[in-house]
Amino acid sequence: MRPIENIVILTGAGISAESGLATFRGPDGLWEGHRVEDICTPEALARDPVLVQTFYDARRAALASVEPNAAHRALARLDAGWKGELLIVTQNVDDLHERAGAQRMLHMHGELKSALCRRCGGRSEWMDTLIDGPACPACGAPGGLRPDIVFFGEMPYQMERIEAALEDADLFVSIGTSGAVYPAAGFVQTARHYGARTLELNLDPSAGSHFFDKTRIGPASRLVVQWVDSLLGG
Ligand code: NAD
Repeated sequence: MRPIENIVILTGAGISAESGLATFRGPDGLWEGHRVEDICTPEALARDPVLVQTFYDARRAALASVEPNAAHRALARLDAGWKGELLIVTQNVDDLHERAGAQRMLHMHGELKSALCRRCGGRSEWMDTLIDGPACPACGAPGGLRPDIVFFGEMPYQMERIEAALEDADLFVSIGTSGAVYPAAGFVQTARHYGARTLELNLDPSAGSHFFDKTRIGPASRLVVQWVDSLLGG
C-alpha cells in the first residue's frame, strides 16, 4: 500500500454541531425551522427575497456567538504540521475552520461572510446584513447583493481544484456530512477510483458509508482529535 503523503478532507455541518450550529437535516428534517427548498434555491430567493435574506442574515449574525471546537482545532493542527499536500474542502458556510487557524482550505458551498453581486458577479467580504439592500462594493449597484451561498442547482466553487486534489490523494477523509448533497457526496468514489484510502468520521453512517474503507462512529470532537493525533504521532 502506498504511503500517505497527500490528504483531502471533506467536512460538513456535523463538524460544527458541537460548536452550537445546527446541522442541515436536524431530527425534524429542517434547517433552523425551514424546509431547504424555501431558503436554499435560486427560486426561493426570487420568490421570497425577504425570507431568504433574513434567514442568512441571522445565520451570519449567529457566527459571533460560536467558537471553533476541538475538531476544527485538530484539523488546523494537522494543516500546520503535515508536510505533504493537504486540502480541507468544507461544505460549511461558517468560518470556524479559518478561525481555528486552518489555511489550506476552501469553501465549496460559499461563505456566510461573503456577499455576491447579481449584477457584476463580484464577491465581497461581508459582515453586515443584506436585507436592507446595500450597494455592491465592487460595482456600486444598489440592491443586487445576495448571500454568497451555493444554492441547490448552482455550481459549487473550485471544482477543478478539488478534482485535481482528489486525483492525487492517498487518503480521503469525510467528517460530519450526511452524504446527501452532490457533488460532494461523490468525492469518496472519485478518490477511491484514483487509489486513495478512504475514512469516514461521523455521528451516524452517511448515505454512502459502504464506499469507505473504514467508518468510525462518534462525535467529531473525539474522533477527529484521535485521528489527527495518530497521523501526527501525538
Ligand atoms: P447534514 O446536516 O446533511 O449532515 C450532518 C451530518 O453530521 C450527519 O451525518 C450527522 O450524523 C453528522 N453529525 C452531527 N453531529 C455530529 C457530530 N457532533 N460529530 C460528527 N458528526 C456529526 O450536513 P451536510 O452533509 O454538511 O449538508 C450539506 C449542507 O448543509 C452544506 O451545503 C452546508 O452549506 C449546509 N449547512 C452548513 C452549516 C454550517 O456551515 N455550519 C450548517 C447547516 C447546514
